[in-house]
Amino acid sequence: MDVFDIIIIGGGPTGLFGSFYAGLRGLKTKVIDVLPEMGGQLSALYPEKYVYDVAGHPKILAKDLAKNLATQSQLFKPMVCLGEKVTDLVWMQNESVWQIKTDKSSDHYTKAILLALGAGACVPKKLDIDYNHAFDNNCIFYAVKNKDYFRDKNVLIIGGGDSAVDWANEFSAHSKHVTLIHRRDQFRAVQTSVEEMAKNKVDVKTFYELKEIQGNGQVENVVIFDNRTGKEETIPIDAILISIGFVINLDFLKSWGLKMDVNAISVNEKMETNLAGVYAAGDICSHPAKLKLIATGAAEAATAVNFAVTYINPSAKAFPGHSSNLNLSI
Ligand SMILES: Cc1cc2nc3c(=O)[nH]c(=O)nc-3n(C[C@H](O)[C@H](O)[C@H](O)COP(=O)(O)OP(=O)(O)OC[C@H]3O[C@@H](n4cnc5c(N)ncnc54)[C@H](O)[C@@H]3O)c2cc1C
Repeated sequence: MDVFDIIIIGGGPTGLFGSFYAGLRGLKTKVIDVLPEMGGQLSALYPEKYVYDVAGHPKILAKDLAKNLATQSQLFKPMVCLGEKVTDLVWMQNESVWQIKTDKSSDHYTKAILLALGAGACVPKKLDIDYNHAFDNNCIFYAVKNKDYFRDKNVLIIGGGDSAVDWANEFSAHSKHVTLIHRRDQFRAVQTSVEEMAKNKVDVKTFYELKEIQGNGQVENVVIFDNRTGKEETIPIDAILISIGFVINLDFLKSWGLKMDVNAISVNEKMETNLAGVYAAGDICSHPAKLKLIATGAAEAATAVNFAVTYINPSAKAFPGHSSNLNLSI
């Protein structure tokens, strides 16, 4: 049985920073993520957006931040298992270790666990109309991976949240034409961004929904309709961005025996959950001062890992010392 000191579930910014800290503390570390690449929401949801509120980075593209975090996390060479979904945690009383089961293996054993699951293995909500799925990731997108694709195109954006509205504003600068449809007249996006759409000449159609996508080989037209009157319109469109939210299912966490606070795992000030040796940090955790940010997730990961060190070795100190006293060859 190959027992790790800590297994971190989730390779988002919180898990990546946690795995760096675990390496710094000399822990034998493994990171497991269901996605095929590291970075969590940064890579999967908004790689082409700038982030301005990460310490030491006045402005950085989310994908570059994810890359830097992955590089930093690799410094101490943790084992990384991508494309593997964790399905169960089992306490092995006789060995005093946790067994982590995934959809690919039951061969993960560890003394401590850091749950950095973010919003869970979240999947974008799909369109509920019939369309040719060969268009997916071709001219119909659920996240923007390459914003240049939308240059000089007639773009349709569906949704009323920050992501939909921000992309409408950004694409308006270099796309041929941007239409945003939203099924209500109230937006979840911040008001200033909604107002900006008017200045940016985004064609905003509230109470409109998508009825049909037409095209041979690629999207050519869409049929949209006013959900109050049923009146239909056909407009020429080359690219569609669907930003209508995510399906989040965290019910499985309850079956792991974790104390939950609505959709998040309750932790104390050491980021301990109610299960011995199991810590949680980042978007998945709940405590009275919780803010769902990259910066706070990083701090929580450092706290969790340093206290996990004292769980694994009760004579160790939680305070790691200053990294500036080290002489790392990087
Ligand atoms: C559009 C958008 C813009 C944002 N902009 C900012 C910003 O400017 N500044 C800021 O601070 N924050 C921003 N955020 C929020 C920020 O991205 C999150 O707070 C941050 O990603 C949380 O990091 P995390 O590592 O806790 O979770 P995540 O990034 O969600 O990573 C969790 C990881 O866990 C994996 N996982 C989940 N369940 C399993 C499982 N069962 N098995 C294996 N792997 C699993 C997931 O695949 C994922 O990779 C933004 C969010 C969005 C959506």
